[in-house]
Amino acid sequence: MLDRRTFMEKIGWGTAGSLILPHYAFSCTSQNKKLGVCLVGLGSYSSNQLAPALQLTQHCELRGIVTGSPHKIPIWQKRYDILDKNVYNYDTMGEIANNPDIDVIYIVLPTGLHAEYAIKAANTGKNVWCEKPMAKTVAECQSIIDACDKNNVKLSIGYRMQHEPNTQTVIKWAKTQPYGKIQKVRAEVGFNIRNPGDTWRMDKELGGGLLYDVGVYSINAMRYTTGTEPLSVIGKFENTRPEVYREVPETTLFDLEFPDGIAAHGRTTGRESINILRADCENGWYQLSPFQSYNGVGGKASDGKLLNTFIENQQARQMDDDALAILEDRPVMVPGTDGMKDIAIVEAINQSAETGEKIMLS
Ligand code: NAD
Repeated sequence: MLDRRTFMEKIGWGTAGSLILPHYAFSCTSQNKKLGVCLVGLGSYSSNQLAPALQLTQHCELRGIVTGSPHKIPIWQKRYDILDKNVYNYDTMGEIANNPDIDVIYIVLPTGLHAEYAIKAANTGKNVWCEKPMAKTVAECQSIIDACDKNNVKLSIGYRMQHEPNTQTVIKWAKTQPYGKIQKVRAEVGFNIRNPGDTWRMDKELGGGLLYDVGVYSINAMRYTTGTEPLSVIGKFENTRPEVYREVPETTLFDLEFPDGIAAHGRTTGRESINILRADCENGWYQLSPFQSYNGVGGKASDGKLLNTFIENQQARQMDDDALAILEDRPVMVPGTDGMKDIAIVEAINQSAETGEKIMLS
């Protein structure tokens, strides 16, 4: 594979060519090439979902890792044939800029660290994939987008549902409205969590609790199910176990008003296992339940139609879609602006729950 620097030297352009051609034009010259992916953060999602899924992709290859845990390095190198020169820690990560094996840096860290490391990734000149939720604040989301724009690299947010075929039917129905005008949407995700533990997800700064972690699925679903953006938000917290949920609420309820009078109700909770997306329309209804599980998304409509298309692996589909967007130089399915809109709504829900006021969204 011819990297940007070697290519520039060979043709004698020095760095001037960076003004003319995007970075990915050099590292991936044809669809036959697989993109080298480097995972940043080797926790549960990288270990149990993304790395195995990368083995199933057609257009990606797991070639690099960034980790702060040296004991994980030999295990990952052996399991995935990762070369010594493709192993980095958080301090050396910037050196990926000079590594032609890597085309994409995938940020799989706690949410509060996404902005810092996504910006570092963008500054290497590699394409950036960033896990959901995109970041803790709209300002952080914007800084990631700006860094990717400045470096002329593509940015995708890891919302796997938008790559999933049953979800794509729901997205299509927002336009075609086969059951008539959408009147109400309901999107709830919850788990029966006895003890959430002292993890980064329960830390107000690093994680922000369930609203960030899974609430963004409900918010994103409300937006893709209606195909529009909300006008206002009302949020409410409930906490029946303040001794367990010390920094973040156990339950968050949110009501979003969309154009044309569509009312959307959402909930995230650690008290009850629930996973449903439902649209009630003028002439019927449809729902996915579960609507965001790894192991199959499925549902039905009021006329008996089943939404039960099966795909083997959502993460592999997502990464192949995102790789093809880079290889074919076309827009990604879930850009940074999509992730940022959800975080704007999360911030509005939190503000409303804290002040008791309805928040208008511009
Ligand atoms: P995890 O706790 O299992 O892993 C986090 C990793 O970050 C660990 O390797 C840890 O060592 C590292 N890390 C670096 N600095 C840290 C710090 N200061 N505090 C804590 N950990 C630190 O978490 P996870 O479940 O792998 O989640 C990682 C990201 O992936 C999150 O953004 C999460 O929302 C996302 N995720 C997405 C999905 C999905 O379906 N798209 C599913 C699970 C997780």
